[in-house]
Amino acid sequence: MARAARERSEQERETHAFPVGGLGGSDGIQNAVKIAVLVKQIPAPVEFRMHEGRLVRDGVPLEVNAYCRRANAKAVELAGADGEVVVFTMGPPAAADALREMIACGAHRGVHLSDPAFAGSDTLATAVALAAAVRREGPFDLVLAGLNSLDSDTGQVPVEVSELLDLPFAAGVRDLDVDGRSFTARLETDDGYHTVTGDLPVALSAAERLIAPSKAPPEVYAEVADDRILRLAAADLDVPVEQLGASGSPTSVGPVRVLTATRRALRAASVAEAVDMLEEFGAFVDPPEPDDAAADASPASAALLEAGTDGAHAEVGERSVWCFFTEPEVGAELLGEAAELAAWISGTVTAVTTIADAAERPGLAAAGADRLLLIESAAEPSEQAAALAAAAAQRLPWGLLVEGTRSGRVVASIVAARCGWGLTGDAVGLEVSPSGRLVAWKPAFGGRLQVPILSRSPVQMATIRPGVLALRPPRADAAELEAELLPAPPPARIRTVAVERDDADTGELRRARTVVAVGVGVEPDGYPVIDELRAALGDAALGATRRVTDRGWVPRGRQIGVTGHAVSPRLLVAVGSSGRFNHTVGIRNAGVLMAVNSDPDAEIFDQVDVGLIGEWQTIVPKLTAELNKRGIADRIRSSDAPTEGTATTRREMRVSDLRASRAKPVRASGRP
Ligand SMILES: Cc1cc2nc3c(=O)[nH]c(=O)nc-3n(C[C@H](O)[C@H](O)[C@H](O)COP(=O)(O)OP(=O)(O)OC[C@H]3O[C@@H](n4cnc5c(N)ncnc54)[C@H](O)[C@@H]3O)c2cc1C
Repeated sequence: MARAARERSEQERETHAFPVGGLGGSDGIQNAVKIAVLVKQIPAPVEFRMHEGRLVRDGVPLEVNAYCRRANAKAVELAGADGEVVVFTMGPPAAADALREMIACGAHRGVHLSDPAFAGSDTLATAVALAAAVRREGPFDLVLAGLNSLDSDTGQVPVEVSELLDLPFAAGVRDLDVDGRSFTARLETDDGYHTVTGDLPVALSAAERLIAPSKAPPEVYAEVADDRILRLAAADLDVPVEQLGASGSPTSVGPVRVLTATRRALRAASVAEAVDMLEEFGAFVDPPEPDDAAADASPASAALLEAGTDGAHAEVGERSVWCFFTEPEVGAELLGEAAELAAWISGTVTAVTTIADAAERPGLAAAGADRLLLIESAAEPSEQAAALAAAAAQRLPWGLLVEGTRSGRVVASIVAARCGWGLTGDAVGLEVSPSGRLVAWKPAFGGRLQVPILSRSPVQMATIRPGVLALRPPRADAAELEAELLPAPPPARIRTVAVERDDADTGELRRARTVVAVGVGVEPDGYPVIDELRAALGDAALGATRRVTDRGWVPRGRQIGVTGHAVSPRLLVAVGSSGRFNHTVGIRNAGVLMAVNSDPDAEIFDQVDVGLIGEWQTIVPKLTAELNKRGIADRIRSSDAPTEGTATTRREMRVSDLRASRAKPVRASGRP
């Protein structure tokens, strides 16, 4: 390494205090650890731009994914003076810069997987290549990766790599303490923290707040010598070439669906005009069901058939859609969706859950389940995955939907890697292709595109984040189900020793039809005024930006965005938030968006339908009064009451259909 870079990295190391009781405890370092770090180079998130329905790549700066920078910084800190940090990446020649930067920040060397044979890799094929490279350069005591990547946001690769290396895995490490051959980690969960313990070797993914990120300017990392990076081609890996790249990928991407209507970006001249717009856009009540049910058939599905890319596959297992969940409300969302898929394929719905107490899982049959499989004594994601994988591998269901909670995503990724099945992470819509295959729609680039993902494996998997699917009204006269017990899994190698919850009901936010999301522009002494607005919107749920939750003004479980929840309400009102990508990515599925901000140039105004410029202290009380005057709260409540026993159609429940309903004339006050 060039001297400047080396000196810089020495300084960096000094700035990161060694964790209390770190390697070897207070007596100092006893063992030199060898750490593998997985990093991904992505287009700079602020630069995600579309032109004529395509992602603009030319001239877009590339950078190391923010979470991966944390993984590298932590590895450098843990390795200390005696350990070794080896950074791995897979990508085109330009990806070597990501390795150079991490080396400039203290990593010892890099391994660059670069070969046309890797082109077209999905998450599993990427994990197969990375795991082979890690195995080749190992053994390692620790494999550290980022929680997920900000461009594709699946979080699957680190879990799949760990599964392929037969390492235990934990996601979202916020604090890490390594003591000799054992570790304790505090993990961020959806609504708080879990503390886990286990022994090395282990694979972990870094939460964004784990440590200050590894960052070096180009003029510094340009000095990193080429011989510090080992280039590996497919032939250098001990993996059959057919398991790599497109041929090794169980999923494929179909024709992209560009959302026809983007946000309107209108600015209302008054509060009354803003509420008029919200009424016109159907922000308070669901749109009427269209007469023509055939209109629901996606043109993209037909295109898939024509293109012959729907992975048509001889049926080998049972014609059932399995849903795995650990929370009853999340299960109800999945089961409702599964029931529709099952109707399409003339199959059944199987609920697979860890909820052992029948009293805590009422209404599964009413929600859509025809059969119930129970996994007992499986509190840890790896145990749940082991039991689920064993049962699914034996019976080969047509589809396997898994709750898209943080632990559910780990479960799904373990099953996918263990069984070699195609997994779509964070699907926002599911359909059946004309030849009977599962089409999982995934949002891309801020939700401006939707990409259909198809799987050619016998079992087709998808995770769906809670709140993305609306709850369906219950089926009438559904009898409760007898549970069939699945064989107990082997005990996990990582155990949870403490659970902290900082919000009793994050489910309220995920399921809400109306949300008011506050940014730091609203200080806590203003929250009573926000509460009055929420009441005027029929008791809207409270959401927040990360800067708000970081300050402890609102529990972390209320955070919306890339490191928080994805919400899909019919209406979301953003007050005092700037509209940064990391936040707005979590609100992209809202039906109608409105923002209040005092800065006329705030980014948020381009990303919402209706904007009101001004101090929230002035605007919000007027808005509340206008909503109350029009009796909006009552209209919202009566629109949201589900009607028992009536079958709902896809069209009634889909937020994406609200988007489609936006193709209306724009007002004169709309921006060009
Ligand atoms: C890896 C990573 C992950 C992240 N994940 C998330 C995430 O999940 N969720 C998230 O939210 N953020 C996330 N962030 C942070 C994100 O990038 C932004 O910093 C954050 O969303 C900004 O919060 P804000 O809008 O509240 O604050 P600011 O950007 O400071 O905006 C405050 C806004 O309030 C307005 N304002 C001030 N006073 C008033 C007033 N009186 N009336 C009206 N308006 C007023 C201002 O004009 C300003 O636009 C992440 C960042 C990183 C690096």
